[in-house]
Amino acid sequence: KLTFEYCDQLVKDFEKAVEHPIVGKSSVYYTGVDLGTAFVVLAVLDENYKPVAGAYRYADVVRDGMVVDYIGAINIVRELKQELEEKLGTELLYAAAAIPPGTDALDSGAVKNVVQAAGFELTNLLDESTAANGVLKMENGAVVDIGGGTTGISILKDGKVVYVADDPTGGTHFSLVISGAYKLPFADAEKYKRDPMNHKELLPVLKPVVEKISSIINRHIKDYDVKEISLVGGTCCLSGIEEIIEKKTGIYTHKPQNPMFVTPLGIALSC
Ligand code: ATP
Repeated sequence: KLTFEYCDQLVKDFEKAVEHPIVGKSSVYYTGVDLGTAFVVLAVLDENYKPVAGAYRYADVVRDGMVVDYIGAINIVRELKQELEEKLGTELLYAAAAIPPGTDALDSGAVKNVVQAAGFELTNLLDESTAANGVLKMENGAVVDIGGGTTGISILKDGKVVYVADDPTGGTHFSLVISGAYKLPFADAEKYKRDPMNHKELLPVLKPVVEKISSIINRHIKDYDVKEISLVGGTCCLSGIEEIIEKKTGIYTHKPQNPMFVTPLGIALSC
């Protein structure tokens, strides 16, 4: 599908830049800050909006889109910022951030304050699905963001978000199912789930939860002309999840090379 060519290339370039930062002479750098339930991700682009560096850390500072550990969030963003500044040999001044669709002004204030307290000048604050679609570039489709706590569904018509929904089913439920099936403590189940080596074995165990998510997607998109779906969010890293969703929805389903990086890159592009 041509639509996703830009996304796939950008994510690939970003993955390389995370491993090997590109030290250059850009006159300006743009940073996307993505505060998630499970991960905080920083993506840095140069003056031509090419990825040059990135860093991420497992964090427990945000729950269901709300900052629950304010100081912890500031510290992580500040540390990741410093780490990237050392690698790039430059100060990172400008950042954009995103909030889950439907988040009210009070919560967006918390995200804004975290980014500013970490030492950035905040140049933009947008909703996550608009950010993701800056990379996906879908005209008439749905961004399905399967995170830790929730699944967000955003429908795009002529490239604009026209409908958003958030359902409390996400990666945490996958881990709970694994914990029950394998009699593992939750933390061990979570770790086991994230190892790609275990995905083939886990897919049949997790299929009912993926089917539940598919029926949630179907319920939300039924009144819209959705021609394609793109999956983002950490839970979509599970190998084979896209095939179950495509089968159950009957709609072409794209999965980026690394679904965790789409939103942070989109945030950085909006900077
Ligand atoms: P939310 O959208 O609910 O606020 P978030 O933005 O932090 O959460 P993500 O970082 O997109 O969510 O995704 C976190 C989830 O992705 C966690 O449940 C985590 O276990 C899962 N996850 C991360 N990597 C993998 C992987 N390789 N395989 C399977 N699941 C993964």
